[in-house]
Amino acid sequence: MGIFEGKKGLILGVANDRSIAWYIAKFIMDQGGVCGFTHLADADEAKQKKNRHRVEKCVEQYPEQTKFLVPLDAQSDQSIAEVMATAKKEFGEIDFLLHSIAFAKLDDLKVDSIATSRDGFKLAMDISAYSLLAVCNAAKDILKKAKVDDKREEVLEAGASVLTLTYYGGERIVPGYNVMGICKAALESCMKYAAYDLGIDGIRVNALSAGPLKTLAGSAAGVGEFQPVYKQMAPLQRIVTHEEVGRTGGFLLSTMSDGITAETVHVDGGYSEMGTPGRLLDKYRA
Ligand code: NAP
Repeated sequence: MGIFEGKKGLILGVANDRSIAWYIAKFIMDQGGVCGFTHLADADEAKQKKNRHRVEKCVEQYPEQTKFLVPLDAQSDQSIAEVMATAKKEFGEIDFLLHSIAFAKLDDLKVDSIATSRDGFKLAMDISAYSLLAVCNAAKDILKKAKVDDKREEVLEAGASVLTLTYYGGERIVPGYNVMGICKAALESCMKYAAYDLGIDGIRVNALSAGPLKTLAGSAAGVGEFQPVYKQMAPLQRIVTHEEVGRTGGFLLSTMSDGITAETVHVDGGYSEMGTPGRLLDKYRA
């Protein structure tokens, strides 16, 4: 029996079959879970159709375990509320919620952080950080509350788990990641405060900090350039895979991680713990 047997939840942020959200969703569905998905909403009907089609191609592989696919614009409270209403109608309560959403305009990513435009900063923060708070608030009535004994000593039934995706550029300076690094710092803080707010009901909120992976958002943020450095600097001397991130994401959304909340878990081959460039220095010693 899979660890997600009988569990149901929401996956926000699949763009295509390279998306991190898709790898986490696949792990969940392979373990018996049922998911509701979103695709990016767009005022232009043709563009929205295209966005939907890309996600449809993924979820079609799991017809039994896909409950719905609806549009979401993370900048719109109404759109978020509509997604939650669909989830309530289809699922009642949910056991897991994945937030795997980020966006910044290329014009803002390509300039020095200090040259970020005011509008671009607001846009990137709105989609990439604030949306986690908005989603948690809109979902709070459908996120399953834990059942505990009177003394809060024993968990009789586990509460829901929420997970967001972050990157090391939110903790340390990663040149090139720029405004998105600032957004990730804010996102990680949002995650902790949301964990506090929802913790009273036994609902957990965590972040997974993934090493650089080639995806649409990843390529826009220049992660391709970081990969060779990770390969030489990380203790594991390699780049992590989509599958590895998918598995840890699944673990954090499952009851297997039931004592973990307000935490950022790194899946980066150990890169973020290095205090010097490590074996990368060998290149300069020769
Ligand atoms: P991705 O496949 O491009 O996923 C990003 C998702 O955010 C897409 O589904 C995108 O929709 C969605 N999105 C953007 N604006 C939105 C909006 N206004 N409303 C709703 N959805 C919106 O790239 P990914 O790499 O898997 O990114 C997922 C998360 O992982 C992001 O938070 C990213 O920062 C984080 N992360 C990525 C890496 C990496 O190396 N790739 C490393 C660490 C963390 P459309 O694409 O359809 O526009």
